[in-house]
Amino acid sequence: MSTAPIQHRPSLSTTLIRDVSNPHMYKYPVPHDAPRPPGYTRFVCVSDTHSRTDPIQMPYGDVLIHAGDFTELGLPSEVKKFNEWLGSLPYEYKIVIAGNHELTFDQEFMADLIKQDFYYFPSVSKLKPESYENVQSLLTNCIYLQDSEVTVRGFRIYGSPWQPWFYGWGFNLPRGQALLEKWNLIPDGIDILITHGPPLGFLDWVPKKMQRVGCVELLNTIQRRIQPRLHVFGHIHEGYGVMADGTTTYVNASVCTMNYQPLNPPIVIDLPTPRNT
Ligand code: 5GP
Ligand code: MN
Ligand code: MN
Repeated sequence: MSTAPIQHRPSLSTTLIRDVSNPHMYKYPVPHDAPRPPGYTRFVCVSDTHSRTDPIQMPYGDVLIHAGDFTELGLPSEVKKFNEWLGSLPYEYKIVIAGNHELTFDQEFMADLIKQDFYYFPSVSKLKPESYENVQSLLTNCIYLQDSEVTVRGFRIYGSPWQPWFYGWGFNLPRGQALLEKWNLIPDGIDILITHGPPLGFLDWVPKKMQRVGCVELLNTIQRRIQPRLHVFGHIHEGYGVMADGTTTYVNASVCTMNYQPLNPPIVIDLPTPRNT
């Protein structure tokens, strides 16, 4: 039997900032009509708009973040419509990642799909390769991130579309090593992380299944290594809201509800703009 003393390890337990008057919101985001404090940058966070942007009331802000699932199937017509909507918005920067519904953005997924003769996604299977090979280039009104980063207003922002396998959609990967390898691509020093799916334990509860479905490798990467100031995601529509662990503020910005109704308002977060920018 080993006599080695038990090593102290940093705890993964989290401090929830919960507002007791509204148990569904752990911490209020900034009200849409609050003035932005001087020296701050205002981020307007959305995700899972699923080609239903018309009724969304967009608040004032500096930087728009969209955490994926902006279409239903990634059809080029949907991407064009989304890009037009982006073009109509006044933000200085608009940053977008893909989600599992942006099938055409996942080139490996598409290569597999057109080889097969089943029709899970008939309208996508019918697309000609030339109509989706450069689908990213349809997004002319934003900065599109896919396992890549950009610096705006002094904030280092990294975006990645991958999430745990669920019925074989785009950017699905098995839990464990495969996802960890994607998270290992995130450089140290990132201030704002955008992924499509949540980390385990943060706004990832699926009531119908009584399950937390977030990615544990993403949780470890965030809490033990990256420690960003802000993590924006969506994917689990039921998890819409804000949480914090003392280091990172977690935003599940799903605009659409479980029934794909665009009813949840965009979430506004103010962060102090890094000096010398
Ligand atoms: P979407 O199809 O828009 O990516 O996800 C919509 C809904 O599917 C989510 O709100 C959630 O109810 C369900 N869902 C997505 N991913 C998972 C998962 O990994 N596990 C479970 N149980 N449900 C999921
Ligand atoms: Mn979605
Ligand atoms: Mn999704």
